[in-house]
Amino acid sequence: MKKVLTLILAAVSCMTMFVGCGSKSDVADKDVLIVGTNAEFPPFEYLGDDGQPDGFDVALIKAIGEKLGKEIQMENMEFNSLVAAIGTKIDLAIAAMTVDEERAKKVDFSDNYYEAIQYVILLKDSNIATIADLEGKSIGVQLGTTGMYTAEEIKDAKVQTYNKAVDAVNDLMNGRVEAVIVDKNPAEVFVGKYPDDVKAIPGAQFEFPTEYYAIACPKGSAIVAEINKALEELKADGTFDALVAEYIGAE
Ligand code: GLN
Repeated sequence: MKKVLTLILAAVSCMTMFVGCGSKSDVADKDVLIVGTNAEFPPFEYLGDDGQPDGFDVALIKAIGEKLGKEIQMENMEFNSLVAAIGTKIDLAIAAMTVDEERAKKVDFSDNYYEAIQYVILLKDSNIATIADLEGKSIGVQLGTTGMYTAEEIKDAKVQTYNKAVDAVNDLMNGRVEAVIVDKNPAEVFVGKYPDDVKAIPGAQFEFPTEYYAIACPKGSAIVAEINKALEELKADGTFDALVAEYIGAE
């Protein structure tokens, strides 16, 4: 009996070793990283004139790639698919992605690199000014975002989801929704395009919480510490601030 047990134990530990070493390598060991984003969220990510993803996040992950000696290949996809795609279709995701508890069950986040908050976009002549005013209203949001979760908590709100935040803004201007909830900087970009029609109200007025963006990585990967070190170096050598100035501008 003892012999059989020893044999079983030996077999199990062999298998564990095999699985541990053979089947899954860490993305930290790769020379080329496939990085998912949703290029519909200016100034963080959008399609450049050449049809390729550009924006603050894209420039930042490329600068991180340079520090790590890795090539970065961007993969444009729906925001709502990013977290599930990590470890299969993509190695990492950078997409103005807010650190939240649910996502953190599935991915490991890097250190925060940007502070955000939800803004409310309204028609210029709207009287909505408080969270109570938003109750029962139809609110446009981007599917699977913290803007959607924020809207869902508003009493009796009729939440309408879109794949692109800009489509929600178009529906606001068409009168199909009464408000749009979306991250601060994209809200400012969208409103900047139609300043005569819409306005963006800071989320602090609605008591929305502060959010923080981070890079989503596979659970347990050594890449997290490497990205954090690269981020620190980019902040210390001025690259990070230069990218903020180039893509986001003065706060
Ligand atoms: N910051 C928001 C979130 O993480 C929106 C991100 C996005 O739409 N790219 O849900």
